[in-house]
Amino acid sequence: MNSMMSNSKCKLSRYVRRAQILDVIRQRDRVSRKQLTELTDLTAPVVTRLTRELIEENVLEEVGTEKVKGNGRPEVWLGFSTSSRYIIGVDLGAYEIKAVVTNLAGETLHRVVRFTPTEASSPELAKTIRQTLGQLVQEAAVKPSELEGIAFCAGGRIDNAAGTVTSCIQPALAQIDLRKLAGEICPVSPVVISSSSSSRMLAEFTHARGASENDDILTVHCGYGIGLSSLAGHKVVVGFAPVPKLDFGHITFDPLGPNCRCGMTGCLETYASGWAIEGHARANPSAQLLDIVSGHVERITAREVCQAAALGDAVCRSILVRAGSVLGKCLSMFAQYYAPSRIVLAGGLASEDNDYYFQACVEALKQSMSPAWFAKFMIERSGLDKFAAASGATRLLWDDRVRGPLDSLVERIW
Ligand SMILES: [Zn+2]
Repeated sequence: MNSMMSNSKCKLSRYVRRAQILDVIRQRDRVSRKQLTELTDLTAPVVTRLTRELIEENVLEEVGTEKVKGNGRPEVWLGFSTSSRYIIGVDLGAYEIKAVVTNLAGETLHRVVRFTPTEASSPELAKTIRQTLGQLVQEAAVKPSELEGIAFCAGGRIDNAAGTVTSCIQPALAQIDLRKLAGEICPVSPVVISSSSSSRMLAEFTHARGASENDDILTVHCGYGIGLSSLAGHKVVVGFAPVPKLDFGHITFDPLGPNCRCGMTGCLETYASGWAIEGHARANPSAQLLDIVSGHVERITAREVCQAAALGDAVCRSILVRAGSVLGKCLSMFAQYYAPSRIVLAGGLASEDNDYYFQACVEALKQSMSPAWFAKFMIERSGLDKFAAASGATRLLWDDRVRGPLDSLVERIW
């Protein structure tokens, strides 16, 4: 019994020590063995042994050397493997399914995009997701044995235990067991599911790393739905830090407002989301908008509304201005309470070719607070492309895997 206990203790401490090393590299991108002994409580022989093990397993690799003062041996830098171990990220968007393969260093190696079949049944949607994954794995020439995991992200509430997305924009998606589906591609890889906004947040943070490591960032995802994530202590918080379960898209803007897909009335999404813009435009389409969709009202989405606005359509411009303005008003309360240094608007509605929505949001923020408050933060568009959430999801999976043993240790202590 005693030897069994000491054996499991030994395994646990090895597991935790490896996690300590990986966590330092996760935060610094590259590090020397000497730095690892300084930044952890590990001795030099332990660092040497464990890093050798991790290199043999293709988790780490030597990424360069640097001369040291005097005649000492050059310092060897270690980083996450850029070949041999990969992660798949899939963003299950309302309009498109975007999938990426990244290496452990977070570099995207291959991308695939397919249209999300609208009004599709669950089996039809599952088939498209399966085809997207199959195409990605084939084109990237990734073997199942080389996969560290598959990370899905979607708008809606996530049930990681069941492997499903609930309360999502696409009812068909809620009935798909994503874990089982991913298991068909890669039976042994861990599968995680996260919200699009938290995945995107991590992508934003990774993108901004170095330039603004101490920034408190608030990211608003403005797409078909609306999501908000914040960054607290370098950990992504979905919703809002003090109330992590808050669903930003469904805070009430006007209780007497239109019906929302969540069952309530007057939520932020009923004014400022892609689906609300689509609904408003379909109910009262302008001649220019009808021209873009060749008279097919059912083909109008927020994308066509943005397109018509850019061509000078006054009706579409006013729809976007109203939507952006409501977002700014709702966001102002959070901005004053959370006091971020940066607010990032991401997603299709905040893209560069749609200035009306973004500018209306900035203007409403400005009008809703004192100039002193408004001057406290920077508001900007995301500099990332439409694959940001998919690559952020791979980052979330990897961070969770690296941090997992350390977090479980903290739980044991407390
Ligand atoms: Zn709602």
